[in-house]
Amino acid sequence: MKDAATRFGYSVNKDRQIDFDNNSHDIALRVAAAEPTLNLCISCGTCAATCTAAKFADFSLRKIILLVKRGEVGGLEMEASRCMLCGKCQLACPRGVSTRNLILQINKALQTSKL
Ligand code: SF4
Ligand code: SF4
Repeated sequence: MKDAATRFGYSVNKDRQIDFDNNSHDIALRVAAAEPTLNLCISCGTCAATCTAAKFADFSLRKIILLVKRGEVGGLEMEASRCMLCGKCQLACPRGVSTRNLILQINKALQTSKL
């Protein structure tokens, strides 16, 4: 017999918790030291909406910044390397985040991290 969610045509997402206290914030600290505008990001998503790379690949700068800030950087290296450094997001960002340098610093920190 089908459960209620299946019968009514929707599914319930698995519960997910962010363990902020136990996540490693090493990458976020290093990136913020090199590019302080990391802390200006409000996750509005304008960068992701205008992104050239996102049209061709699974890539979202908004998501990457959010995960770096949360300390959830496992498996992020591949996605972060997809930025084409075109700079469109930098023109669109309402908070003046230096997005190109930010993604460069994130890539550098991820590549040199021991995670
Ligand atoms: S557009 Fe700027 S403020 Fe908005 S999510 Fe992107 S980097 Fe953050
Ligand atoms: S610089 Fe990177 S993140 Fe920004 S719009 Fe271009 S490809 Fe997207």
